[in-house]
Amino acid sequence: MNGKEGALVLFSGGQDSATCLAWALTRFSPVETIGFAYGQRHAVELDCRRAVRDLLPALVPAGRGRLGADHLLDLSSLGQISETALTRESAITVTEGDLPSTFVPGRNLLFFTYAAAIAWRRNLRHLVGGMCETDYSGYPDCRDDTLKALQVALNLGMARQFVVQAPLMWLTKAATWRLAESLGGAALVELIRVKTHSCYRGTREHLWEWGYGCGACPACHLRAAGWEAYGKGERA
Ligand code: ZN
Repeated sequence: MNGKEGALVLFSGGQDSATCLAWALTRFSPVETIGFAYGQRHAVELDCRRAVRDLLPALVPAGRGRLGADHLLDLSSLGQISETALTRESAITVTEGDLPSTFVPGRNLLFFTYAAAIAWRRNLRHLVGGMCETDYSGYPDCRDDTLKALQVALNLGMARQFVVQAPLMWLTKAATWRLAESLGGAALVELIRVKTHSCYRGTREHLWEWGYGCGACPACHLRAAGWEAYGKGERA
């Protein structure tokens, strides 16, 4: 990539999207970010998001001067779907396995559609998301096939040639840590470890080896296992 094509990164302030931001900064210019606010639970995530966005670019040598605007969209209607509509039968199904109460089916379809609408206006070609099929939580909208189909739909519907980029799609969580290391060394790994947030419960009281979190929810388990595998130098 010659660095002249712009990108919009779906940036939540979590480990995966922070790694995607570093990845995008080494390939595209400008790199803008988009975040979605849709519930109180996410206040912690949004705080982390700001801190990571402020600190990360200095740690990615190849991406200096490329970070552009941030777009924060208020999607309180998503909060309505997750808190109000998901009662009774559907709530029981969806919350099985301790998925977050704010889980919204097809959420990434909505996020990418909003992102594409902004990228269209900002003339940014690449839409970057941290979706992953390898160590994922089982959301069908994280699948590679879903994103490929979505890319076709967005390009038809908006008459553009967007490229949906999911650089973590086939990486294990350990490999995602290694990718961060390759992009910004130990300093970037440390920033992601202590400043990003993955925990569903929004807890940041205890700093574990792998970062802050409740230590008990699926997102924390995934993150802890990934960090442990990264420490052991396991291959992807
Ligand atoms: Zn947790």
